[in-house]
Amino acid sequence: MHHPRSSVMRLYIPRKCGGRGFLNAKNLHNREVCNLRDHFLKMNVSMFQDVVAVDKGLTPLSLGKENWRKPIVISNSDRVAIWKSKELHGRFYKALTGPDVDQITSVSWLQFGDLFGETEGFVCAIMDEVIKTRNYRKHIMKDGTLDICRACHRPGESLRHIVPGCSHLANGEYLHRHNQVAKIIHQQLALQYDLIDFEMPYYRYDPASVLENSSALLYWDRTIITDRYIVANRPDIVLVDRSVRRAIIVDITVPHDDNLVKAEKEKVSKYLDLAHEITAMWNVESTIIVPIVVSVNGLIAKSFDQHLKKLSLNCWIKSRIQKVPHSGALTTGCLGTQMSRSGRVNFFYKFLIMFCILYLYC
Ligand SMILES: [Zn+2]
Repeated sequence: MHHPRSSVMRLYIPRKCGGRGFLNAKNLHNREVCNLRDHFLKMNVSMFQDVVAVDKGLTPLSLGKENWRKPIVISNSDRVAIWKSKELHGRFYKALTGPDVDQITSVSWLQFGDLFGETEGFVCAIMDEVIKTRNYRKHIMKDGTLDICRACHRPGESLRHIVPGCSHLANGEYLHRHNQVAKIIHQQLALQYDLIDFEMPYYRYDPASVLENSSALLYWDRTIITDRYIVANRPDIVLVDRSVRRAIIVDITVPHDDNLVKAEKEKVSKYLDLAHEITAMWNVESTIIVPIVVSVNGLIAKSFDQHLKKLSLNCWIKSRIQKVPHSGALTTGCLGTQMSRSGRVNFFYKFLIMFCILYLYC
């Protein structure tokens, strides 16, 4: 349930603050002892004063002792400060409390509490960057392991490399993760404009390359042919709302936590030329670019709601989108740590990965 190398402080921090919301029995006990002692000492009643006068070690409160050692009570803010101060555990905290990150939405998955304890513990261990990768073994455990990625054979097999940045996994696990988010958006847009008749689980949804009716046109992963040469001409989704004569370019990315805002800006600038070209070619009044960005650990930027508003999509979709990077992190986390020298994953861990993904999808 709790990974042995994960942050212990985070275990007892409330879920709305990014912790796991457990109650620390020792802390609760110590707090009650302090409160009870204060209560006796403050009461201006003769019976209480008599008890205080005689209690010199008779009860655990030792009311008569002046040099009583107060038991340690750790407040929530103390725990957060300790979590923040840790070099490795604190990285996720710093990303979560960044100025552009929607902290409440980013940790809402913890408040839903719909993951099994083991899965939740493993997701938190990935966030805490304490999975036994080769980088972790070399620099934290110091067991002399050579820090070479078992997938792409390049130096630096850290979680930061495995979950968002390994070239060997780019066309497999990362592309799958990206497409799952894109499918959620595509299906909701298709439903909104009556381009499909019914909703199905997003992981079974197979988007059509072109969907069209009298009110809308919806492209999925299609090259846009333009009059002049444009480098970025294949966005994930293009929607044309014919009733208001407006085109929307939607592009999805799942970057590392630290690149959340940068990735969003990059997506907008990448498709600016295409947006101008579409406005000129397709008889629409305007073309807007909507970047859908969710980090590998499920962090969501504050601007996410505005982007959903442009697509007229409800906010509930955020929690569904957030599940995708978590399942992706579990998959790549398992892949990265359990690969054999040949780069193959053994049967047990394939089973574990499937097990984790099933939990997330249910
Ligand atoms: Zn690699």
